[in-house]
Amino acid sequence: MDESLLLSLGIAAVLGLIPAAIARSKGLSFIEWWIFGTLLFIIALPAAIFAKGPQSRSTVSPTNQLLLEGKAKRCPHCLAVVVIDATECPKCHQAL
Ligand SMILES: [Zn+2]
Repeated sequence: MDESLLLSLGIAAVLGLIPAAIARSKGLSFIEWWIFGTLLFIIALPAAIFAKGPQSRSTVSPTNQLLLEGKAKRCPHCLAVVVIDATECPKCHQAL
């Protein structure tokens, strides 16, 4: 293997760290993105920038959003979500 090829591979491996670092910050696999970035840096860089990792996906459902905002509460009897000022659970009809 001649030196210029080794040098190119070395540069590619270093450049590959950039999309890998971006992907890592989004909770994606560093190693997979490093290989991807080393082989296809031009494609991997924008792909890493626009990639949506597990952390950037919204995992909060509308129901949980209401609970977080204090607009709803859980029934202590059946765990149904009810509006915050309800006095009776609409599901199990227990007093709240
Ligand atoms: Zn209930």
